[in-house]
Amino acid sequence: MERTLVLIKPDGVKRKLVGEIISYYERKNLKIVDFKLIKADRETAESHYIEHKGREYYQSLIDYITEGEIVTILLEGENAIGIVRKINGATDPLQADSGSIRGKYAYSKQRNLVHASDSKENAKREIDIWFPGI
Ligand code: ADP
Ligand code: MG
Repeated sequence: MERTLVLIKPDGVKRKLVGEIISYYERKNLKIVDFKLIKADRETAESHYIEHKGREYYQSLIDYITEGEIVTILLEGENAIGIVRKINGATDPLQADSGSIRGKYAYSKQRNLVHASDSKENAKREIDIWFPGI
């Protein structure tokens, strides 16, 4: 069964949307394999977002992801990677489907509440970062 990695970013935790966000995945019948409430250190956040290194928003993205607690979630299900990207919605909440998490709750292209793996390769890489040994 396919696995994917979700992060509820610090704005999602601060706004008390953890339960709401997790229920989107559960209602789609995705299985929660494991989850944790943690504060990411810079090194881990930088390795997670390695593909964005050099972009103009990279430093502020790392500041954002490390500013407070996040929830890391390992999800499993048929087509989990694509399904979760659809549930989350487009990066920019102005473009996100109104039924998606970002479409419904986010208003900023950076502070957009959630992260999800975008490919099998990145899912494996990201699961190894946040859930080593699983
Ligand atoms: P996604 O999270 O939808 O996969 P990207 O991989 O393009 O989006 O970007 C990773 C994260 O970086 C985004 O979720 C967002 O928090 C931030 N980000 C992306 N593009 C921008 C931008 N132009 N300005 C500020 N932050 C951005
Ligand atoms: Mg991405």
